Amino acid sequence: MWASKRPFYYILIVDPIKYGDANDRQIIGALAHELMHFETYEKYGWKRYLLEYFGFLFSKRLMAKYERENDIDVIKRGYGKELLANRIYRFSKISKKEHQKIGKCYLMPPEIKQYIKKYKLNLREVEALRNRRCLRQ
Ligand SMILES: [Zn+2]
Repeated sequence: MWASKRPFYYILIVDPIKYGDANDRQIIGALAHELMHFETYEKYGWKRYLLEYFGFLFSKRLMAKYERENDIDVIKRGYGKELLANRIYRFSKISKKEHQKIGKCYLMPPEIKQYIKKYKLNLREVEALRNRRCLRQ
């Protein structure tokens, strides 16, 4: 799954081969991650987005910071368990070498669990956050 912004619209591509046997929770985790990028793009505007995009091309560290912060925002929004399910699913589909490479850019399952505990929300708070997102659109 991959998200990108163009000046006036967003693109979200879902690869059916990568997610062919994924369950709903695993897919929701992927969508939450990608849609959180869109929210960040909206918040910071296209100039910062372009700067960051070019930064990623030259700096793995910048990219890792951006992706990891995005994962934390997903957890704060109440989609931590879905993100965890997705990450475990995705990591089960790739080689160990890729796993280590990707693991440096995204939160790993143990880290996701830690952040879920840190930002533990009760069910009512999660519902309120999810409804707030829908109402704003
Ligand atoms: Zn991402």
